[in-house]
Amino acid sequence: MLKGKVALVTGAGRGIGREIALTLAKEGAAVIVNYNGSKAAADETVSQIISDGGTAEAIQCNVADFAASEAFVKQVLEKYKKVDILVNNAGVTRDNLIMRMSEEDYDAVLDTNLKGAFNMIKHLSRSFLKQRSGKIINIASVSGILGNAGQANYSASKAGLIGLTKSVARELASRGISVNAVAPGFIDTDMTKALSDDAKKLLNDTIPMGKIGTPADVAKVVAFLAGEGSDYITGQVICVDGGMAM
Ligand code: NAP
Repeated sequence: MLKGKVALVTGAGRGIGREIALTLAKEGAAVIVNYNGSKAAADETVSQIISDGGTAEAIQCNVADFAASEAFVKQVLEKYKKVDILVNNAGVTRDNLIMRMSEEDYDAVLDTNLKGAFNMIKHLSRSFLKQRSGKIINIASVSGILGNAGQANYSASKAGLIGLTKSVARELASRGISVNAVAPGFIDTDMTKALSDDAKKLLNDTIPMGKIGTPADVAKVVAFLAGEGSDYITGQVICVDGGMAM
């Protein structure tokens, strides 16, 4: 149970982030539902949590922006006094083959997926160190482990996120702070809805379990990593992928 804990989930208005927010709130955590552009979706996530008897608040911040994320963390710490669980879930794709990939699309994906996580961890690290406890969970991807044609920017960002996870895990382990990554495979959200039926079929054929995952499949593992059941686990990458990356 996460009663008395404060969780901050980035990109929690929609998709996997929303499900993580709902799940952590059900476990008893007060949840800060971060969003960038989707205010209505974030408000809906908060309403759902509150109507289930939980505590939540939506706060806008573009996590890719160093100064904005610093101000966001300051705002949260002033009000809640602490953050126990940080889930770096915010992510974007701008797929293209390397020949056609623009510098802008490369930078945009790295800025959100990798620098966004760096920003949040860096700005919260002093508070985590002071309380000598904390759970940081980064949402990576099997694409960062296997690579994926058409996703050089995305794969690089997620491989980088795995490196960031392991390095920070080594830095913070002796202070009671764990840092782990969850690497989803192919999950049914807005991010994957845009794929053609042919592309979906091809992807499906690479999943030993033969089906795509749900946001709940990911959220359950995040809840485990956020709770005391995972207290002796750090620096790990847990694939939630139906066996794709085994
Ligand atoms: P999604 O439905 O497209 O949602 C993306 C979320 O990220 C949205 O809530 C969005 O918020 C937020 N976001 C994007 N840029 C942001 C920024 N600069 N600052 C703050 N929030 C930002 O995607 P999803 O499928 O739920 O993906 C969630 C995470 O799982 C991502 O890191 C993704 O890479 C990872 N993942 C997904 C899959 C999959 O198959 N779906 C597989 C592997 C990994 P706004 O709408 O408010 O901008």
